[in-house]
Amino acid sequence: MRPLANDRRAVPMRLIEHERQVARDLEMLGLPAANWPAQVTGPNGASVADVLVVGAGMNGIAAAASLIFKGVRNIRMLERNPAGQEGPWLSFARMDTLRSPKTLPGPALGIPSLTFRAWYEAVVGAEAWEALYKIPNATWVDYLAWLQRVLRLPVQHETIVKKITPSAGVLEVEVQSQRGNETYFARRIVLSTGRGGAGGYHIPSFVDPALWPDLAAHTNEAIDFARLRGKSIGIIGGGASAWDNAATALEQGASRVDMYVRRPALPQINKGRGSASPGYFYGWAGLDDAERWSLFVYLNDAQAPPPHETVRRALRLKRFNIHLGKPVEAATRQGGKPLVLVRGEDTPRPHDFLIIGTGFRANAGAITELADLSPLVARWRDRYAPPENLRRSDLGEFPYLGPGFELLEREPGQCPDLSRIHLLNHGAALSHGAVASDIPGVNVAAERLATALVGSLFREDIKSIRSDLEAFDEPELEGTPFFVR
Ligand SMILES: Cc1cc2nc3c(=O)[nH]c(=O)nc-3n(C[C@H](O)[C@H](O)[C@H](O)COP(=O)(O)OP(=O)(O)OC[C@H]3O[C@@H](n4cnc5c(N)ncnc54)[C@H](O)[C@@H]3O)c2cc1C
Repeated sequence: MRPLANDRRAVPMRLIEHERQVARDLEMLGLPAANWPAQVTGPNGASVADVLVVGAGMNGIAAAASLIFKGVRNIRMLERNPAGQEGPWLSFARMDTLRSPKTLPGPALGIPSLTFRAWYEAVVGAEAWEALYKIPNATWVDYLAWLQRVLRLPVQHETIVKKITPSAGVLEVEVQSQRGNETYFARRIVLSTGRGGAGGYHIPSFVDPALWPDLAAHTNEAIDFARLRGKSIGIIGGGASAWDNAATALEQGASRVDMYVRRPALPQINKGRGSASPGYFYGWAGLDDAERWSLFVYLNDAQAPPPHETVRRALRLKRFNIHLGKPVEAATRQGGKPLVLVRGEDTPRPHDFLIIGTGFRANAGAITELADLSPLVARWRDRYAPPENLRRSDLGEFPYLGPGFELLEREPGQCPDLSRIHLLNHGAALSHGAVASDIPGVNVAAERLATALVGSLFREDIKSIRSDLEAFDEPELEGTPFFVR
């Protein structure tokens, strides 16, 4: 259901009233504060944004709003997708509803009228809220679009950030849009580029790249399910997205789905939910490296079960087959078909198409927007050597971030300007906990990031801020006997 589309007559008045409430809430809190950073110009007098936010999904929205509230108002937001298409929700998130409970506030930054619930009740009413089980993906996207609008965020859609390079004390940003290629300048950059924004998605080495583009796709790629009608689909992996894709393929007419899962049983407990508390959100970054590493390994090894709704959705469909304890050793192309070789079997199993559901990876060396700078970024393996039983080579590739999500140099002096770039996505999870990943942590991450940016801009601008202070001459005592001109 998309309430904005389905209930057009009821919406405008209630929503207009609600938006008045938002304006009043902000006014009562004195938000947003007046702009205070110094004005800076770039090469040849080019204009420079104080902060350029890449990505206008949930984390980008929260970060930008938090900065604007704090008076950092000279910001720019660039988003690759068209308006209303941000994030995974209407493309590769192939579930019907969000996995999380409807009661999460969303990126509301502590303001009740900005919560998902307040917006939803304004749009379709309190009864509809009571009746809602979980949030449909499209409804969540409508809410995020509303936040962009009501907070007047300066989002420039259909604009891709291609390359970031330090240049004379600022960052030069090459972008591509319908207007062609352009260059922008910014003093700080926030990469809120989503789950795959810190290294892309993970395709295991046993999957032959020659299967692309006609015989295989990762769950995070576009898949033409209509083309798979009547076909036999093999799915590698047993996580939430693997199940969503299995259900989608069957609903759209696949003749059968075979899901290959390495583990003999599905994970039972969602430890991510068990650690979604203020303690973890605020406390994680203060732990020492050994404690953070050990906790992250524990969470990573446990893996999360698929949501029970997703499992039931797939099981309702006939022709769904799950093979637990069947690790795939090779996925190859032969005679125009993908073949799946399961460990311990002599004969590979043929399918018509393979879907690879093996999730994302984080790799500081593969952040696309950083291009040549990427190898200079400090990773966890540069900073911490775990004991043998806790070694996990993939986790060592996570970026090792500073306290404000800033990138750090691998070798001091190689590129100090890296600390002008802040990574606000899942790549921050080992350094900061799951604050810039899922919905529950979004407000904590935005607040921490914005506070750090305010501090660093203030330090950088202190000379000009001080001379503004010295020039400040608003007479308090004018009109009293003690006024001195
Ligand atoms: C399939 C799936 C389902 C999920 N379900 C849930 C859930 O139910 N509950 C939950 O709490 N979490 C869920 N998550 C995790 C998380 O909440 C989402 O990934 C969420 O979208 C994260 O928000 P974000 O702002 O970090 O990233 P996104 O929403 O992905 O937004 C990032 C934006 O950056 C843009 N972008 C990227 N690179 C560039 C570039 N170079 N130039 C310009 N723009 C760029 C993208 O177009 C995108 O719109 C899910 C994740 C996935 C992948």
